[in-house]
Amino acid sequence: MAKVIDGKAFAEGLRGRIARAVETLKTRHGFTPGLAVVLVGEDPASKVYVANKARQTVEAGMNSWEHKLAAETSEADVLALVEKLNSDPAVHGILVQLPLPRQIDSMKVLAAISPAKDVDGFHVVNVGKLSTGQDSLVPCTPVGSVMLAKAVLGPLDGLEAVVIGRSNIVGKPVAQLLLAENCTVTIAHSKTRDLPGVVRRADLVIAAVGRPEMVKGDWLKPGATVIDVGINRIERGGKGKLVGDCDYASCEKVAGAITPVPGGVGPMTIACLLYNTLKAACAARGIDQPAM
Ligand code: NDP
Repeated sequence: MAKVIDGKAFAEGLRGRIARAVETLKTRHGFTPGLAVVLVGEDPASKVYVANKARQTVEAGMNSWEHKLAAETSEADVLALVEKLNSDPAVHGILVQLPLPRQIDSMKVLAAISPAKDVDGFHVVNVGKLSTGQDSLVPCTPVGSVMLAKAVLGPLDGLEAVVIGRSNIVGKPVAQLLLAENCTVTIAHSKTRDLPGVVRRADLVIAAVGRPEMVKGDWLKPGATVIDVGINRIERGGKGKLVGDCDYASCEKVAGAITPVPGGVGPMTIACLLYNTLKAACAARGIDQPAM
């Protein structure tokens, strides 16, 4: 049976190290990192995410600001708020919660965020820096996924990695990070031929598809490490349930290690958001990031 990769415990440890680093910044440098989150509309899942982000930001000792705007807010008003946050020196990180209502062009809003405060790592400047091997703010879920892989495998040099999914939010950045870790990377997507055959080559599988329990145990090379990014809500036995993109029951029999859903990659995302805020705050002040 596969080793279960406990993302919840790993994220808790990371948040603890971040909180200690924040404390050091306060005592030695006299300032507090701050994160501003912008939520437009009433999407129930987004409201839960934003509330969790705010709570964990405060628990880490940072300043947290929530800007809640009505669903009918115009694009111009959202852009004006982003501009205000860009020029506020107390704000080190800005996150605009996606998805945005239809009247607002997400790409335009993401492009308006100062790259130095882009703690989601979605700005093209940060995307370009990541793909050219420069230090940058990197999207949170991909960073968290690679941290978990390294926690079980140690250095990833030379491993065959297969990433399933090529979104800008998960698939592509995770592939860039694995390349930087010296993996041989294959990116699979909906047009990939013989996906089970491609996945069977992998020492490390990262699934970011959004299809419940798609990856089966008999697709895996025995002993492979499986990082399941998927979060899918399904009905089973008359009850709602969260499942990943991997069929946990069959995969755990073949994999060497696997992340559960929930409790795997999910908790890493906010921990990495706090890490990016700390990083952005230190860079804004021109000081080295405290050791963690
Ligand atoms: P997207 O829908 O943006 O991308 C899905 C990708 O999967 C696409 O590249 C698509 O290919 C590919 N795909 C779809 N169907 C298949 C198939 N049958 N075979 C192979 N590839 C396929 O999703 P996201 O990247 O935003 O999210 C992926 C999953 O991760 C979701 O379950 C989401 O909820 C979860 N997630 C979890 C987070 C966390 O905090 N843990 C954060 C972000 C996402 P193509 O490009 O060809 O269409």
